[in-house]
Amino acid sequence: MGKKRTTYSWSRLEHYAICGESYRRRYIEKDYRPAGPAAVVGTAVHESIDQNMRYKQVHGDTLDVDTCIDIAHQKAAGEIKAERMHLSKEQKGEYAQIVETVLNDARRLAALHCKELAPLINPQRIEHHWIISIKGVPWRVQGYIDLQEWPLPNRKAGRIRDTKTKAATPPKGSVDKSDQLTIYSLWSYINDGEIPEVSMDSLVKTKKEKIDVQTGTRTIEQLNCAKNRMIAAVKGVEAGLFLPASRDHWKCSDKYCPYYRECKYTKGWR
Ligand code: SF4
Repeated sequence: MGKKRTTYSWSRLEHYAICGESYRRRYIEKDYRPAGPAAVVGTAVHESIDQNMRYKQVHGDTLDVDTCIDIAHQKAAGEIKAERMHLSKEQKGEYAQIVETVLNDARRLAALHCKELAPLINPQRIEHHWIISIKGVPWRVQGYIDLQEWPLPNRKAGRIRDTKTKAATPPKGSVDKSDQLTIYSLWSYINDGEIPEVSMDSLVKTKKEKIDVQTGTRTIEQLNCAKNRMIAAVKGVEAGLFLPASRDHWKCSDKYCPYYRECKYTKGWR
């Protein structure tokens, strides 16, 4: 019997690309830590959208707004209760206010998606598991596509949508640089036989919440670049090379990295 191929998780490789040291702590040392308040909002809104899209897939219509809000609220409250929210030293002094903001953001962004975007989406695949095998490479990569729509007439692949909750509107052209959307496109190209359109749907937590939708696609050359990135990341992991994030990366801070307070690469700044 041949040797079983190792299957790498795409989201873990993405984590590795941002900070190898954080990847090492989480996935090699198995030192799991919760993410920050923004991630709790993202998880809660994701859950609401997921349930709404599954409902629409079956019934052809969306859930009502109050149900979408309630799903997001319950999910966020559950994460907070289970202490799955990392807070920086400063944030710990503002716990009650942060909890209130997280719950409020989760509710208002779930409502926004439910009212304005969900009615326009025609879901084909939801949380779809994918695996990519590359010729000549002894491992595979897997992940999940949040949402892919049914193809338009005369098309083979439907639009892939990635929804994110954000503090500010992303700069124009962000959709073209998303590694996540490039990898999803690569899988759809292999699976459906066509490079799909992609959409970055940002739910923005400004005072008055708003949606920013950017659409784009990928070229064959860009899909090859994604493949090369995957190969480089796996080579790094397999070689035990865990480079720290650059000191000026937004992630490398007490607010966004749960390992910051003990990290040997930031000691001189604490
Ligand atoms: S503090 Fe910086 S270098 Fe250390 S694990 Fe976190 S992001 Fe990586």
